[in-house]
Amino acid sequence: MSVVDEPEPRTQTFDKAALKRRYREEREKRLRPDGNAQYLPLTGRFAHYLTDPYTPVTRREARADHVTFAFIGGGFAGLVTGARLAEAGIRDVRIVEKGGDFGGTWYWNRYPGAQCDTASMVYMPLLEETGHRPTEKYAHAPEILAQCQRIGRQFGLYENALFHTVVEQLAWDDEAKVWVISTDRGDRFTASFVGVGAGPLHVPKLPGLEGIESFKGHAFHTSRWDYAYTGGDPSGAPMEKLRDKRVGIIGTGATAVQCVPHLARTSGRLFVFQRTPSSVDTRANAPIDPDWFASIASPGWQRRWLENFTANQTGGGANEDLVMDGWTDLSRRIQARIAGIPRDQMTPVAMMAAFEDSDFEKMEEIRARVDAVVTDRTTADKLKAWYNQLCKRPCFHDAYLQAFNSPNVSLVDTDGRGVERVIPRGVMAAGVEYELDCLIFASGFEVGTPFVQRAGFDVVGRDGLKLSDYWADGMRTKHGIHVHGFPSLFFVQPTQGANLISNVPHNLTEAGQTIAVMVREALDRGAREVEVTREAEQAGIDLLLTGPGRMMLGSQDCTPGYYNNEGQDPGPAAKLNVGYPAGATAYFKYIDAWRSDGAFEGLNFR
Ligand code: NDP
Repeated sequence: MSVVDEPEPRTQTFDKAALKRRYREEREKRLRPDGNAQYLPLTGRFAHYLTDPYTPVTRREARADHVTFAFIGGGFAGLVTGARLAEAGIRDVRIVEKGGDFGGTWYWNRYPGAQCDTASMVYMPLLEETGHRPTEKYAHAPEILAQCQRIGRQFGLYENALFHTVVEQLAWDDEAKVWVISTDRGDRFTASFVGVGAGPLHVPKLPGLEGIESFKGHAFHTSRWDYAYTGGDPSGAPMEKLRDKRVGIIGTGATAVQCVPHLARTSGRLFVFQRTPSSVDTRANAPIDPDWFASIASPGWQRRWLENFTANQTGGGANEDLVMDGWTDLSRRIQARIAGIPRDQMTPVAMMAAFEDSDFEKMEEIRARVDAVVTDRTTADKLKAWYNQLCKRPCFHDAYLQAFNSPNVSLVDTDGRGVERVIPRGVMAAGVEYELDCLIFASGFEVGTPFVQRAGFDVVGRDGLKLSDYWADGMRTKHGIHVHGFPSLFFVQPTQGANLISNVPHNLTEAGQTIAVMVREALDRGAREVEVTREAEQAGIDLLLTGPGRMMLGSQDCTPGYYNNEGQDPGPAAKLNVGYPAGATAYFKYIDAWRSDGAFEGLNFR
């Protein structure tokens, strides 16, 4: 929207040693030996937490046919890949999705206030292709879900899709050169090519609290919001049925930050149970002016915006910031500090110190914001986050902190220990019993668990090789897409590719494009399989390992959370959870050249 005035690095007015000490103390309070095992998998007596509250399951015939391309997952990954395949003339595409419609995360997460945290202009995929103008700088969930459905309709992806269907097995038949896909609906069909985009955060988890099943009130997870109980709707209509209710919410991550203001507006009483506060910076959402949009939306606009965002995020040499959101602000500050280092003192240590200073400065501002917004001093103190900003998911909101000024809202801070236990009448936290009618779990999703556990199925490749065995020591791919021994199978996700975490959809649209080009090539050549060579895969891994590693994101010095495997040593496999060493901008340029030159270096088409 405007050329950027680079922020001047401010004079350091904080006591770095004291902050580091405080961060360490807060981290130590929260470290626990059980790590990821503290959470409950939603199986057996907890399986009802996974029931789809949005779409009834309908009966259908089991499929036993063949498709050119099957995609597992109907979220952004499947949709953008399906769209790119359709553009390449490949229309025989079947998306298999466990939800009742397309949307993935945006199908499930319909909690009130759900909204994208990265600007819609770059976050929402295929805006230009679908001709959709986002209505707000940060679109709300119903608009993003509608965009998913629009992509599905425009690219003909509904006709062949299987909803409310969970893949149970995926196995390569080397004689027929097809993948055999079996599902929980009795399907057993084949596909020449398969894409997998099951998403990183799609298996809800509950805190493993003693007595959790004893609660006699109403309970649900935020990703299965029960509007029949609360009233209201995903577009934010007041939840009138909560007016006479005592509501508790466990968790204060990015989800809670968005739904707490809505709960505060209507709940008779609201108790927010906090283990670790989020950092909550300003949001500054605004409608997108149609005239302004028309003035910038010339052909190729979204690609220009995507490239500009990525360049601002990863030091890709942008001299303007089109997007101007919380993420680009963060990275511009860091870059400004680094730019302030005299040329002859530009060492990795000096750069790291500049990075750290920028983070301390930002977090001081975020803590000062809490004081400026929250009137009760004790509550304000408890809402301050004491860790580096990238230790946990940064949040942005203009009504979350304000909600704690409402007389019906209480913050129940547990000083890092979490809720103690659930009792039939409510919960025990910080030594006090809280009586509740409704208990909402904003407790997040499985992250640090192995791929096969989260996907819900193993992949059996050539010669019976299981993906779980092949990846036992860490993920191995070329470009984050291909795996040797698993022909004609493509992963659609950020790791080992651009790994641009602040705008995941950009990774996915690029991967979708790469896959469409390869499949088109295979079909044109009459090839029955496409496979990365062992050498090319290894060269890709070797290259990844030359990079700087995971930096702040996922650091073991951070307060525990899913970014750092709950503070537990993630083992040697984690060093492979990285991206292209030269950064996301360089990766996108590289992959564009790789898929455009026709050589497909490292692939065998047979
Ligand atoms: P998170 O995993 O981020 O948060 C879970 C919360 O539950 C944490 O506050 C955690 O505390 C808390 N918790 C866990 N156990 C206990 C306990 N025993 N007692 C009290 N509290 C407990 O999940 P979210 O659903 O909030 O977010 C997941 C991710 O989804 C985000 O990080 C983000 O990537 C994505 N997201 C994106 C959004 C967007 O783009 N707009 C919006 C919402 C989510 P602790 O921190 O101490 O572990």
